[in-house]
Amino acid sequence: MDMNFRLLINGQLIETKQTMAVLNPATEEVAAHCPRADEKVAEKAIQAALSAFPSWAATPLSKRAECINKFADMMANHKQELASLLTKEQGKPVAESLAEVDYSIAYARYFASLKMEPQTVHEDDACKVEEHHMPLGVVGAIIPWNFPLLVLNFKLPAALLAGNTIVIKPSPTTPLATLHLMSLCKDVFPAGVVNVITDQNDLGSYLTGHSDIAKISFTGSTETGKKVMANAAGTIKRLTLELGGNDPAIVLANADIDSTAEKIFATSFVNCGQVCIAIKRTYVHSSIHDQLCAKLVELANQSIIGDGAEQGTTIGPLQNKQQFEKVKVFLEKAKKDGHIIAGGNVLSGAGYFIEPTLVTDVRDGTDIVDQEQFGPILPIIKYEDVDDIVNMINQQPYGLGASIWSRDIAQAQELAQKVSAGTVWINQHFSIAPNIPFAGARQSGLGVEFSVAGLLEYTQIKIINQAK
Ligand code: NAD
Repeated sequence: MDMNFRLLINGQLIETKQTMAVLNPATEEVAAHCPRADEKVAEKAIQAALSAFPSWAATPLSKRAECINKFADMMANHKQELASLLTKEQGKPVAESLAEVDYSIAYARYFASLKMEPQTVHEDDACKVEEHHMPLGVVGAIIPWNFPLLVLNFKLPAALLAGNTIVIKPSPTTPLATLHLMSLCKDVFPAGVVNVITDQNDLGSYLTGHSDIAKISFTGSTETGKKVMANAAGTIKRLTLELGGNDPAIVLANADIDSTAEKIFATSFVNCGQVCIAIKRTYVHSSIHDQLCAKLVELANQSIIGDGAEQGTTIGPLQNKQQFEKVKVFLEKAKKDGHIIAGGNVLSGAGYFIEPTLVTDVRDGTDIVDQEQFGPILPIIKYEDVDDIVNMINQQPYGLGASIWSRDIAQAQELAQKVSAGTVWINQHFSIAPNIPFAGARQSGLGVEFSVAGLLEYTQIKIINQAK
């Protein structure tokens, strides 16, 4: 594998004067050095995308889809090396990295299969009205560090199929798999259609405020999302914001304890808990609280924490030092405000490792329950009245996902109607697919990703209204 990482701008692989070190979070050693763009380099990328836009927009959709399928082929042909780079920079176990590449391919192929035909929305003796969807121009795609390739594939295939060109900005701590993939795909798209720049958290606002960028598709924290929205206001940019979450699981008294515990554990601690739609708090009816906790403790004690590159590892490190420090503070708060029944330790030595931690005897109103900890800590809250829980959840700022766990599906469905969130799962959590719309309620996001609705977010509606 070529470890000489470069940017892709206007079809050329570019080096920059400045470089930056990317660390392996399992060892804290330098995984690789890569370029660091400045505003001049970012401007070149934006202008390349702008120049490439008219001819890409005029390229037949079938040809654009062909390029996206070639991009998917490239991911499939280089799956092992992409997965190993992902583990090296992001920390997740190799099996999770391989799954991330598989999902990325599935998203790319799905968007490549969609069509965007004009629709006749009204016709009578007086007129015929057609709805067309036009590309917007240059899209700025801003990516977080938890799923570098997957989040890229939530955005790039949809933006390009719709006829836009793109400037991608990965997170400073996880740019490597993206840069490698883009260097492999240098000739898959016409020059300027796809461009990648890297930064040290200092070029995001250059993109979001730039008058030649028509849309920002951002995935990241709610805090940064607010800055994106404010900065984009000057040019009334189109925005898709996929932001933070504090997903609750609500376990009813009649839930199947063993299977519920297994699924809750898996979807709380996958990717070391660094998932926007991980279960971040579990509400359990008092009648089964102790039994469910006992099963969760069993599962936590079976976890194998370590370098994601080592066989057998089930939980890797936190992705970066800043997040590690943040989660350590949450751990101390959890110890103060609750009772630790599993884990609770930071591992000594190199790497950002924290044991999967279960906290009981906690209540709403404490940081460990109310905030997005984004790490391997799961608070478990005992409740008596489920309506009280739902009312409280519905008033909180986050509304990304939620799940209800019960053997009585009718009861779970009735409750699902009452929960205000972008997705409510029943007897599962974190189940997503390219054809199922994904959207956050309240401060968890703006707009939709995935599905035809997600594709159309990369377009402008144009009505042609013709008198007869
Ligand atoms: P972050 O907000 O710190 O950074 C996200 C991206 O924004 C990075 O590329 C960063 O460099 C860039 N950025 C930083 N400052 C910026 C600015 N002022 N303007 C524009 N861009 C800027 O988020 P993170 O820590 O990388 O990711 C974790 C967060 O992402 C969590 O809150 C998680 O819930 C959220 N997330 C949400 C989804 C979703 O689909 N809703 C998916 C994944 C992650």
